[in-house]
Amino acid sequence: MMLSLEEARALLANRVTPLPSITLPLTRALGYRLASPLVADVDSPPADVSAMDGYAVRAEDLAAGAPLPLAFKIQAGDAPGRLPERHAARIFTGAALPSGADTVVPQEQATAGDDDTVTLECLEKGRHVRGQGEVYHTGDKLVPAGRMLTPPRIAVAASVGAAEVGVFPRPRVAVVSTGSELVGVDAKPERGQIRDSNSSMLSALARASGHEVTGVWRVRDDFDQHISQLTAAATNTDVVVTIGGVSVGDFDLVPRAVEAIGGEIVFHRLKMKPGKPILVARLEGGWLVGLPGNPVSALVGWRLFARPLADALGGAPNAFDEEPMQVEIDAPIPNRGPRTLFHPCRLELRDGALSAHVIGWQGSHDLVAAAEANGLARVEGRSTAAAGECVAFYPLFSGLDGGSAHDG
Ligand code: AMP
Ligand code: MG
Repeated sequence: MMLSLEEARALLANRVTPLPSITLPLTRALGYRLASPLVADVDSPPADVSAMDGYAVRAEDLAAGAPLPLAFKIQAGDAPGRLPERHAARIFTGAALPSGADTVVPQEQATAGDDDTVTLECLEKGRHVRGQGEVYHTGDKLVPAGRMLTPPRIAVAASVGAAEVGVFPRPRVAVVSTGSELVGVDAKPERGQIRDSNSSMLSALARASGHEVTGVWRVRDDFDQHISQLTAAATNTDVVVTIGGVSVGDFDLVPRAVEAIGGEIVFHRLKMKPGKPILVARLEGGWLVGLPGNPVSALVGWRLFARPLADALGGAPNAFDEEPMQVEIDAPIPNRGPRTLFHPCRLELRDGALSAHVIGWQGSHDLVAAAEANGLARVEGRSTAAAGECVAFYPLFSGLDGGSAHDG
């Protein structure tokens, strides 16, 4: 039975849980996901503070319009005492209000006298004052667990004294290319050979997704070599991503090798195109995702399975519960077959609106078409998406992500 994308993802959503959390110094935590929420240990602002450079007063003393004597000057960082009745205090942005004061008149609305007095425009009570705790109160949860530490969240952590943070580790990914036809990037292929381009792509995809690449292996279509190299790749790794050899040919050895090393196959074969032979298996200490060898198939399989799986291990909430963007396509995409099609597209700005350019391709072996793409348009089996129609769109790279999968 071939599963749909959603059925296959649902199987994983129930089984993939985040790796045990670690503690990192805040200075090294950028890009990691929080294992526990950031909680306030202070109020922000810590007191009623001035939002302007100006004068702190009681609003009731402004009504008369008379000059007010200046009591004292308060800089940011000072801890002022009480403001005497019918006085003003010089104050600067971020400085705490003296007790008794409730309003700040900006210096642009003030006229200083020569006798240490100031005449102030009349403002309503509370103007230009940031109230104690109006951003957060002690004990408030500020950033939930699962969110990725972006620079502003690092600032929130710093503001609540989190010099160390509990985070989920980056998932470790190993890449294994299979195929006796493959030669290295630095070799000139002989007749019948091609360069192994996929392992370069997959390790770059993993890095671009914030995962750690533990190693890249290349194996011939030989069963014993599969066993030994898969075993090696699976050591100290969370996700082994294999490329090629996962279909039904005589030399497609990955499924058998996975079982031989004790892997439990969660699914194999999906109702999608490209990507039909995709396999996901549970290994003793991690996971294995078997991607087909055609470059576009490998890219699609990475985007829809390997990446969310690794993201989920790294603490991403709802990694398999993705709501795609809806984007207009600029040309028809026919899908005559029964499987769901993922077609390479490029999201671009046209007259200020985002639209997806449908990239012409020779098929799932067309690496150059894939190189033009920044996302995949989805068309269900036996249907045609018309030019101008909105279709589900799955961005390939971060920065373009919609939906809940990359929430945070
Ligand atoms: P397979 O899934 O092993 O049947 O491979 C499908 C197609 O992808 C074949 O034409 C392979 O030569 C090609 N292919 C497999 N692995 C790679 C790779 N690592 N780099 C580039 N092409 C590959
Ligand atoms: Mg092969």
